[in-house]
Amino acid sequence: MTTARYDAIIIGGGHNGLVTAAYLGKAGKKVLVLERRDVLGGCAVTEEIWPGYKVSTAAYVNSLFRPEIIRDLELKKHGFQMLPRSPSSFTPFPDGRYLMMGPDKAMTHREIAKFSAKDAENYPKYEAMLTRVADFLEPQLTQIPPDPFSGLGNLMQLGKIGLGFRKLGRKTATEAVEILTGAATPILDRWFESDQLKATLATDAVIGAFAPPSHPGTAYVLFHHVMGECDGVRGVWGYVKGGIGMIAQSTAAAAKSYGVEVRPNSEVARIVSKNGAVTGVALKDGAEFSAPVVASSVDCNLTFLKFMAEDELPADFVAAVKKIDYASATVKINVAVSEPPQFKCLPGAGIGPQHHGTMHIGPSMEYIERAYDDAKYGKPATNPMLECTMATAVDPSLAPAGKHIISMFVQYAPYHLKDTTWDAERDRFADRCFDVLNEYAPNFKASVIDRQILTPVDLERVYGITGGNIMQGSMNLSSMFSFRPVAGFANYRTPVRGLYLCGAAAHPGGGVMGAAGWNAARVILKDKVR
Ligand SMILES: Cc1cc2nc3c(=O)[nH]c(=O)nc-3n(C[C@H](O)[C@H](O)[C@H](O)COP(=O)(O)OP(=O)(O)OC[C@H]3O[C@@H](n4cnc5c(N)ncnc54)[C@H](O)[C@@H]3O)c2cc1C
Repeated sequence: MTTARYDAIIIGGGHNGLVTAAYLGKAGKKVLVLERRDVLGGCAVTEEIWPGYKVSTAAYVNSLFRPEIIRDLELKKHGFQMLPRSPSSFTPFPDGRYLMMGPDKAMTHREIAKFSAKDAENYPKYEAMLTRVADFLEPQLTQIPPDPFSGLGNLMQLGKIGLGFRKLGRKTATEAVEILTGAATPILDRWFESDQLKATLATDAVIGAFAPPSHPGTAYVLFHHVMGECDGVRGVWGYVKGGIGMIAQSTAAAAKSYGVEVRPNSEVARIVSKNGAVTGVALKDGAEFSAPVVASSVDCNLTFLKFMAEDELPADFVAAVKKIDYASATVKINVAVSEPPQFKCLPGAGIGPQHHGTMHIGPSMEYIERAYDDAKYGKPATNPMLECTMATAVDPSLAPAGKHIISMFVQYAPYHLKDTTWDAERDRFADRCFDVLNEYAPNFKASVIDRQILTPVDLERVYGITGGNIMQGSMNLSSMFSFRPVAGFANYRTPVRGLYLCGAAAHPGGGVMGAAGWNAARVILKDKVR
């Protein structure tokens, strides 16, 4: 077997791995990307799972992808284009009413006022509060987190963050701490009286988490609502033209233009190291590649516990990695349909504004809490919370003429089921999700052409995410910033010289941001490993 030599090898062709590869390639390095699957994108992938249907099989909406990366890598030149969503959300209720919200502030005010005039007045103030907090937190996403327990430089960086925090003033700083550590429910309860509004906003808070809105830690994701941007407009979530996989496709095209080699169908089985320094990787098929730098964009369970032997790593590091929480209660169902769902509360044939954004099925705070309660005891929710999107309403090029793709992001359905297996429950649970949507949109079930069901076990098998955890490890405060993935190793370096992390397992965690990949590339270039 040949052992071709590179300056750097990237494990995984998800969007973060490709971002790292592109920045290293742009800096003149000889780079190889090894991807296990035959498609690029990882969890942010577009796949033609049925002829003519381009499905964003896992991730489906974007605002978080860093604008700096789009500019630096000239991704628009390589086909990247955002399509804003307006309205951005639609929640139908069992009593025949609905709540539509979006970037259009006047429309949002009118809609919320249907449920509470006071909430309609408070909503812009709530958004302003989240924006103040986001103004402080967002710049941290592209920081290399300091290690509070080592080096003067780290302390100075911490001091700078502390000064920024101080500038928020007591009131906003208190809000920021609550957003970072608290539960969504008490915050929403303080701001609003309408359960319909609170339930709509709470779904944002629990997305991808195995926690209900009443649990501490859920408030953090609330601020994603005002973060990121779509074509320069802050806080607007959009679709990516051609499917979310176009982020990876355009990044791969940029990387290749800098000379990066990208090899799909190349499953890494081992990271090879000698005397505490990485020397390369070996594939499952036996091929070997050598490099003084290996950057892994897969999670820590795979990187350290599967691709390496424990005795190659310090025991306390291994112990910390073993504690990472991969709990998950997410199911993704992709559906090809012959017509858009027609909601009882907003009848009419064809595509309407209700189809542009996220269609929330989770009509009350109690509904969401009870869905979690089932999962807590090892059962898929009897009444699951559904976040449905139909990107074909905005991008008809994704499906054959007149046909549509519905993406259902479903909670809560735990990886570990009590007294049964996902093979036994997969279709039964999907049928239940279809029944739930059908209660609101009675044409839905008859419109189904085909479906793909991805339980937490399938998410793990297909995308290589341990436990089906969509963030490569939970996003609790104890696993964020200087503590992600584990304390002492948040700067993308690992105990093995030349081995780096560059994916969602590292700061700033899950989401299609590219920030982990970009931050890692800067650290690698700074280290000048030979
Ligand atoms: C169902 C679902 C829905 C989501 N929805 C959204 C959303 O709408 N918006 C959003 O911002 N975020 C969303 N997320 C989260 C987001 O998609 C991920 O956090 C992000 O894509 C992670 O990117 P990454 O490049 O760090 O890792 P990954 O995307 O996990 O990429 C890692 C890559 O490594 C490859 N790999 C694994 N093992 C090996 C091996 N042995 N050898 C070689 N390659 C290997 C994988 O195939 C994969 O391509 C969602 C995630 C899921 C699962």
